[in-house]
Amino acid sequence: MPKYDVVIIGSGLGGLLCGNILSKEGMNVCILEKQHQFGGNLQTFTRDGKIFDTGIHYVGGLSEGQNTHQYFKYFGIVDKLNLKRLDKNGFDKINFEGKTYSHAQGFNNFIETLANDFPAERNALKEYIKKIREISNHFPLYNLRPNLGLDNELQFFETSIGDLLNSITKNKTLQNVLAGNNMLYAGVQDKTPVGIHALITNSLIQSAYQFVDGSQQIVDLLIETIKNNGGTLMNNSEVQTLNVHNGKIESAILSNGEVIEADNFISTIHPALTMEMTDTKMLRKSYRTRISEIDETISVFVVYLSLKPNSFKYQNYNYYHFIDENVWSIPKYNPDKLLQDYLFLTSPTNNSSDYAETAIAMRHMRYDEVKQWEKSNTGKRDNDYEAFKKQKAEELINQIEMQYPNFRTSINKYYTSTPLTIKDYTGTKNGSMYGIMHDCNNPLKTKISPKTKIPNLLLSGQNVNIHGLLGVTIGSVLTCTELLGMEYLLKKINNA
Ligand SMILES: Cc1cc2nc3c(=O)[nH]c(=O)nc-3n(C[C@H](O)[C@H](O)[C@H](O)COP(=O)(O)OP(=O)(O)OC[C@H]3O[C@@H](n4cnc5c(N)ncnc54)[C@H](O)[C@@H]3O)c2cc1C
Repeated sequence: MPKYDVVIIGSGLGGLLCGNILSKEGMNVCILEKQHQFGGNLQTFTRDGKIFDTGIHYVGGLSEGQNTHQYFKYFGIVDKLNLKRLDKNGFDKINFEGKTYSHAQGFNNFIETLANDFPAERNALKEYIKKIREISNHFPLYNLRPNLGLDNELQFFETSIGDLLNSITKNKTLQNVLAGNNMLYAGVQDKTPVGIHALITNSLIQSAYQFVDGSQQIVDLLIETIKNNGGTLMNNSEVQTLNVHNGKIESAILSNGEVIEADNFISTIHPALTMEMTDTKMLRKSYRTRISEIDETISVFVVYLSLKPNSFKYQNYNYYHFIDENVWSIPKYNPDKLLQDYLFLTSPTNNSSDYAETAIAMRHMRYDEVKQWEKSNTGKRDNDYEAFKKQKAEELINQIEMQYPNFRTSINKYYTSTPLTIKDYTGTKNGSMYGIMHDCNNPLKTKISPKTKIPNLLLSGQNVNIHGLLGVTIGSVLTCTELLGMEYLLKKINNA
């Protein structure tokens, strides 16, 4: 077994992007993935002959000249992506109390579209857009410029999204509309830093896309680039131990006993799980405790719907439904309630024309609701678990039918996933949707640096920086700058 320049733990977006960047820049990388399938949350699965996405449903900033586009250009895959742009006049539709509001693409379009519903709030809408653009401008890598420590972007992790909304308008309905897609970042009004809201919504308002036939295409393209650059990818390779010798990590030891040596290690899995791989005193107790005590974002229950041919129109938008005029689903979440806030979307495929082949519905679910079944093996859980999933799926489909009458007649088959599924397939703690929960009341506690006290161990993935396609992209670049240099890498990316 050769000694690698860099071993990367995990082949989700974070692992594949670090692998792409470092192999492109001449390093001999090896990506270790515990699952059979590469991709983590990016992976798709096929049932009933249809493709379903697991963890990327839509993304922002992929139009030419925008940040995600430029990063993906450097990765060498942007021209090969098969994308479908969501409705420019309403990529997200927010529904409560019987009325639907649209988030439109383009800053002016966003303002004018909502000003039709809130004519007296045009100035507030202008102020909102001004604020999220100003905030986003403070984040260097979001704007593809080197982080020279001059931007003071941390200040936007010290105030909440609730504070921003209160400061721009007293109109509660408009506040709820503006926060209506907060499922995208597991939002909690007085906890979620305003920076997270701003970076995500600013990017989607610029442009919002779905992946035709799913996000597996990113996995396949990134694997191709890594292999072309001489990199190695190993599946069914669960890292169990990081072996420390002479003040640095010497090797990763797999669950089958195999030893993989490298000069540097990047772990893209949850930092608390990374800490458990080594008991070295180089990682102080206070650091381990801080990381293990960070709250996780809530999890989710998903119903994957295979639809009958030509029976349900493809919707070029995401539909967020709320049971009342309070879009903060997490604090009010009550598992015992029959009606739940949910997100419903159809996915584009190469085969589909006006009609959708698949749809996805999701609502929050806490890990403790399924914890009793965690000990059994994947796919072999008992009948009670199956009955629980069926009941929750039927409840959600009944609820969708209130909005889309007779929707049930379009369903051929459906499949479900719970927090246990997410935990099984990605290894996230408690099946959390987006890893750690950022908290503006204690911003430093929830900020994870890519550097650790072990000089050749770096962290990456959704817990460094923020989650999501763009968040993990920026986190991966940040981590790789530790090995390649900030100015050097940003120059390469901007010149791509
Ligand atoms: C239901 C859902 C919907 C989402 N929707 C969107 C969306 O629409 N848009 C968006 O931008 N983002 C979305 N996200 C978030 C996005 O999917 C994630 O933030 C991102 O994919 C995380 O990438 P990652 O590389 O950090 O982690 P992961 O994708 O979790 O990858 C980690 C990898 O590490 C592997 N691993 C774990 N332990 C070990 C070990 N010991 N040894 C080796 N390998 C190991 C895992 O198997 C996994 O493959 C969604 C997430 C969820 C759950």
